[in-house]
Amino acid sequence: MAAKILIVEDEVAIQELITYNLQQAGYETLCADNAEKAMSIINEALPDLILLDWMLPNMSGIEFARILRKGERTRLIPIIMLTARSMEADKVTGLEIGADDYMTKPFSPREMIARINAVLRRLIPEATEEVVELDGLRLDPVNHRVTVENKEIELGPTEFRLLHFMMTHTERVYSRNQLLDRVWGDHVFVEDRTVDVHIRRLRKALELVGKDALIQTVRGSGYRFSSIPALPAVDSDAEM
Ligand code: CA
Repeated sequence: MAAKILIVEDEVAIQELITYNLQQAGYETLCADNAEKAMSIINEALPDLILLDWMLPNMSGIEFARILRKGERTRLIPIIMLTARSMEADKVTGLEIGADDYMTKPFSPREMIARINAVLRRLIPEATEEVVELDGLRLDPVNHRVTVENKEIELGPTEFRLLHFMMTHTERVYSRNQLLDRVWGDHVFVEDRTVDVHIRRLRKALELVGKDALIQTVRGSGYRFSSIPALPAVDSDAEM
């Protein structure tokens, strides 16, 4: 799945240049030339990352970033600030309000892609196209294949996304609600129990290659993906 990047930039030439380079690099792009338009795009669907210009008409990029960081739904969206100002104090302000990185114009397309990739890898590794390997299990996001010793495991699209998320977020317990947010996306109205159904399907598929123990049920809390055998207190077979 290509990561979706929202470009908030009022200078048309720069907006087009960024769009062209991101699309060449395989990203999906959305554009807005002011904060209000950006907000209505975000209200439709959350982007994976925002490239946010500091100097925008009406509301500045800094103000907009502050609003995003306060919103329950938007506070975790990765933000890279773009600016023509290279003052150290500005950089500090940008990072203080919670921007994840900062780029001074003019920047090369290569630098931009490298920074975007670094932020995505750090914050949402499931949105990158890097192959993930764990305990003999290999997931390739580009060709949508999951294999164990060259044997392919058949998975539905939701199970694939679920496995991708879990393989890139190992050793942490995620509640069903957190999994719904991160794997199903926001604005999706499905019941918590839906998660259990897909976990069960995923376990069944992994069982065929003896890897079902990687998904552990942590009673009362959620699910964890781990190659470390579960402690006796953790019941790896039961549903929550
Ligand atoms: Ca501008």
